[in-house]
Amino acid sequence: MSDIALLAEVRAFLQQGHDCFINGEYGRATGPAHPVVNPGTGETFSEVREAEPAQTDAAVNAAHHAFHRVWRDMAPLQRGAILNRLADLIDQHGEELAQLETLCSGKTIQLSRAFEVGQSSHFLRYYAGWAGKINGETLTPSLPSMQGERYTAFTLREPVGVVAGIVPWNFSLMIAIWKIASALVCGCTVVIKPSEFTPFTLLRLAGLAKEAGLPDGVLNVVCGTGACGQALIEHEKISKVSFTGSMNTGRKVGAQAMQANLTRATLELGGKNAAGFLADIDPQKAVAGVMEAAYLHQGQVCAAAERFYVHRSRLDEIVDGVAAQLKQLRIGSPLDESTDFGPLSNRPHFEKVSQYFASAPDQGCEIVHGGRALDRPGFFIEPTLAVADRRDATLLQEEVFGPVACFLPFDDEEELLSLMNDSPYGLTASLWTNDLSRALRLVPRIEAGTVWVNMHTFIDPAVPFGGVKGSGIGREFGSAFIEDYTELKSVTVRY
Ligand code: NAD
Repeated sequence: MSDIALLAEVRAFLQQGHDCFINGEYGRATGPAHPVVNPGTGETFSEVREAEPAQTDAAVNAAHHAFHRVWRDMAPLQRGAILNRLADLIDQHGEELAQLETLCSGKTIQLSRAFEVGQSSHFLRYYAGWAGKINGETLTPSLPSMQGERYTAFTLREPVGVVAGIVPWNFSLMIAIWKIASALVCGCTVVIKPSEFTPFTLLRLAGLAKEAGLPDGVLNVVCGTGACGQALIEHEKISKVSFTGSMNTGRKVGAQAMQANLTRATLELGGKNAAGFLADIDPQKAVAGVMEAAYLHQGQVCAAAERFYVHRSRLDEIVDGVAAQLKQLRIGSPLDESTDFGPLSNRPHFEKVSQYFASAPDQGCEIVHGGRALDRPGFFIEPTLAVADRRDATLLQEEVFGPVACFLPFDDEEELLSLMNDSPYGLTASLWTNDLSRALRLVPRIEAGTVWVNMHTFIDPAVPFGGVKGSGIGREFGSAFIEDYTELKSVTVRY
């Protein structure tokens, strides 16, 4: 087994040392430098400088200028054509983007190709299809007319203005594309900040957007930590914040946005997602379902499940089946084509997940498989399987955001529902059964923004996605995003 060779384009891009993209130009920021580390080796291979307030201000001003001068009034189909050209360029530069992403995030190269590249261009094309279809309505005024005068009314859907995007490290390109594409197709311009751990894929995307014909200033990227994010959110020319990240940061971001300028915010936050396996499920399908739900990208997926409630009659069979599958996973360098399971994305996260696994036996859980860090460089931890003996075990309550499936048996439907809803989060959930009538009867009683039946972690641009309870506010995808990126203006005319 050996790593794929890095493309010359990847090396060249990294050597250029960019750390911001403002008004159509790459540049250097002047704040503190943050090391960028390869999670597969633990070695620092580059650095990115934090944007200082002056750079963030320049980025927001560029976006504000571009909004008023060029983007808001561009014909929607011209905007859509640029998004489609960007999707083509993402595909053409797919290997380069996939390698950059894998270097920074530790995602296996196969997953970077399929998700960061493949899904990003699909999502862009889906959003491009909305161009020319974002409309207001004609309304019939309801009050009796005064003195025989007549009225008519209609609404306009207008872009909100400059959008601040803040994204996490787990899918740094795909999640950024969700925000950029929603904003641009509605006629908004964007300043977006990646995580300091994974800055390069998004910086590279900005150059491709320019090549696709995106006017200068429409998309700007600044890098840095939460301080940079906060300066961006609180800028007076920001009209909307679109944030994806943890529940704790989301609380702060929502408050900062409100406090600064009553700025509207969409918050896509964490999850502690549950999967419920009913007694009639075929155990082989259940095992494949757990593998799909829990271990993609080493479990660092907001939609992934960590809580698995299985009918008592099936528990042993399914747990044994999953343990057997985990033994087969090829753990290794994420740049190796044959790797199924790579490292965690960064050191602080690796330490947090290691701590969760180390303390699990004292917190109501038996580790049945895995749970240990690997004795090799990089941030590797074993894919882990646990069985809890009580519903309030830590691994059933707190978001680990790591490679763990924690099981608990249930005896009847009411108990299953009570367990599945026993969380401050409500992002996704899944039910596994051959009885679709039963599933459809249970779905309305599950507290989650997305419920899958006989599948998990399936995200489609046509289907709205977002959380209830502590998992957030707002929806992406489908037509739901339009509400968030436009203002509704009412026009009433007397004639
Ligand atoms: P995080 O909340 O630590 O950071 C997210 C982003 O916010 C980063 O870019 C960070 O620099 C920035 N940030 C931090 N403090 C800030 C502040 N005060 N003001 C403005 N910006 C600030 O999250 P993370 O560790 O990068 O990502 C993992 C989390 O993201 C998990 O909880 C996961 O469930 C969640 N997530 C949710 C979704 C979703 O769609 N709901 C998708 C992916 C990840």
